[in-house]
Amino acid sequence: MTRPLTATIDISAMRHNFSVVRSSVPSAKAWAVVKADAYGHGLERAVRAFSDADGLALIEIDRAINLRKNGWKKPILLLEGFFKADELPELAENGISFAVANDEQMAMLEKAKLPKPVNVHLKMNTGMNRLGYLPSEYRAAYERVSRIPHVKSISFMTHFANSEDPDHPKVPVREQLRRFDMATDGLPGDRNLSNSAAILLHPDIRTDWVRPGIMLYGGTPGGKTAEEYGLAAAMSLDSEIIQIQHIKKGDSVGYGSLFTAETDMTIGVVACGYADGYPRVAPEGTPVIVDGVRTRLVGRVSMDMLTVDLTPVRNAHLGSKVNLWGKELPIEDVAVAAGTVGYELMCALTSRPQIIEKD
Ligand SMILES: *Cc1c(COP(=O)(O)O)cnc(C)c1O
Repeated sequence: MTRPLTATIDISAMRHNFSVVRSSVPSAKAWAVVKADAYGHGLERAVRAFSDADGLALIEIDRAINLRKNGWKKPILLLEGFFKADELPELAENGISFAVANDEQMAMLEKAKLPKPVNVHLKMNTGMNRLGYLPSEYRAAYERVSRIPHVKSISFMTHFANSEDPDHPKVPVREQLRRFDMATDGLPGDRNLSNSAAILLHPDIRTDWVRPGIMLYGGTPGGKTAEEYGLAAAMSLDSEIIQIQHIKKGDSVGYGSLFTAETDMTIGVVACGYADGYPRVAPEGTPVIVDGVRTRLVGRVSMDMLTVDLTPVRNAHLGSKVNLWGKELPIEDVAVAAGTVGYELMCALTSRPQIIEKD
């Protein structure tokens, strides 16, 4: 028998979620963001699910080149750009577009001898203070890149720090947009702007390209549930109860004896642990669904198992179905309990759960 732990990846849900991008921002072209192995869903599956996308955007150079070699003909964008000068000829050869975010990248691009001309996405730092040229430096950077003979197009790119919170007190989207608009005013080139939260909450932002990631996988970047946004969970992590313990008041459970029963109670042991990607930091009370009933994690998550309170679950038995997240339980509910975001849980899925592909 195989261990009863599966990650079901629903390709039709991913396809559906891409259609939500189209209906939210019908006039924009869309990069499907497939970095980090498509947020843990598998790059090759994402390529099939997002065949209608106008391009694929990612971080990993080797995988970008493989996408091209495996037959993806539409644009590919490297969101962090390149890291070493010797990567440039292969990117040019394979028609891979990339961000240019600083003078070091700019200098490498100026000096490069390239087999084909390249498309550059000139990154602006409008408040995130991570990558990009400041608005005050942007025009000079634009002029510099436009003098490079082997650059055939220049797009304008920035990234929002708080698009899930329209009234953010420090760096609201509208302020980042104001800086972006000022710095690009009158310059010819495509605008490459919105991430998922901006697409869902600010669909009116004027942009030629959007960059949805988390929403494609059914994750929701701001407050509302996937259902409210019309999105479907693409990853479902499911296991079973592999042992039942009837413990007495005062008995404790698991490493560190972290949980102590306040009354006699029934505990279910689930075949899923942190070596599968379930967060070890998830505290007592983190939601878990057993046989369709919402209950709670108790005790410390161990490498291969976790334990749940079966009190609310009538007739729980060996083999009872457990949903850790996905179809029955929004991944954000687990993430919030564990002090993180759905993004991290998706990306942290390991290779141990058996993958079931659904189409
Ligand atoms: C990851 C990433 C995105 C996608 O963001 P989501 O919040 O997942 O939609 C967009 N743009 C850049 C530059 C990114 O790094």
